[in-house]
Amino acid sequence: MDESVAVKERPFSGFNTSDDRTGVNSLRDALVQAGLLIPTGVQGLFGRDERFERVVEAIDSLVTRLGADQNAEVLRFPPAMSRIEFERSEYLKGFPQLAGTVHSFCGGEHEQQRVLQCLDRGDDWTEYQKPTYVVMTPAACYPVYPVIAQRGSLPEQGNTVDVFSYCFRHEPSLDPTRMQLFRMREYVRFGTPAQIMAFRSEWIERGTRLAKLLELPNSIDLANDPFFGRGGKIAAHSQREQSLKFELLIPIESADKLTACLSFNYHVDHFGLLWGIKTHDLGVAHTGCVGFGLERLTLALFKHHGFDIARWPQTVRDVLWKRP
Ligand code: ATP
Ligand code: ZN
Repeated sequence: MDESVAVKERPFSGFNTSDDRTGVNSLRDALVQAGLLIPTGVQGLFGRDERFERVVEAIDSLVTRLGADQNAEVLRFPPAMSRIEFERSEYLKGFPQLAGTVHSFCGGEHEQQRVLQCLDRGDDWTEYQKPTYVVMTPAACYPVYPVIAQRGSLPEQGNTVDVFSYCFRHEPSLDPTRMQLFRMREYVRFGTPAQIMAFRSEWIERGTRLAKLLELPNSIDLANDPFFGRGGKIAAHSQREQSLKFELLIPIESADKLTACLSFNYHVDHFGLLWGIKTHDLGVAHTGCVGFGLERLTLALFKHHGFDIARWPQTVRDVLWKRP
């Protein structure tokens, strides 16, 4: 990791951090000043107030209504997953820079004394923190693959799962749309290539409808994941060449910078092979997912319709809060 990032990301003793003093990010400053986001002293780690949460919940229910015909199985996991399954996912091949692992104190009383002494002296105390079998969930769909694999082959029509999770990515940033802990709602599709492609086109269309209903300027574009290192450039290129990832983009942080708020992913047989997921006729299952970034959509609404929800266009409020 870049040294400057490490220094900037140090936890602070108060809110008056060097980052906060610079005032470089006006949207973040405005959100914090309005109380919608509550800074914690760490970049990309925020509390949310009641208004922010009302909007997150309303978007989440809107996604449920949009997906009502999917016969999706609802599965919910805590924002962490098995380290063994995480290792199997090959996340560390593609995105080691984003991963978050959970470590715990594993010493005895003697080691505890050492830790307390280090804390007193302001020295590094983490020597006795050892990796646990828990890692942070990087995307809401990750805990689902082993669960579906364990059930045996898929039914003929495939499977659709509805997931929601706080996700962790180690990408500290001043941009409020790039958080370290944020919520992702997903529909994950398991089946044949034709079933996944149909699912993805359907959701690109529905995602665009959602943005239109919320009166948010948007566009769909081909995208790639932020694969790590030199090998990553090749992976990103190949992902684009095969048109595996599309995003729905909305200007949020600034007018000329578009932010991905939804993503539409075709994983081909990547997860099917890793976990041995089989179609009804025992072929390797293909998978795909549509991900809704709930914080980013919420921020887009505050950005485009203002911080006072009561003054948002009535049409938008009806879509979010008036039950059909
Ligand atoms: P980006 O290209 O901006 O890093 P992504 O395309 O890699 O995002 P995905 O892995 O496709 O993101 O995740 C699905 C959705 O989760 C994104 O469309 C976005 O709305 C949301 N998301 C991803 N990273 C963050 C983040 N750091 N903070 C807030 N939301 C995020
Ligand atoms: Zn996914």
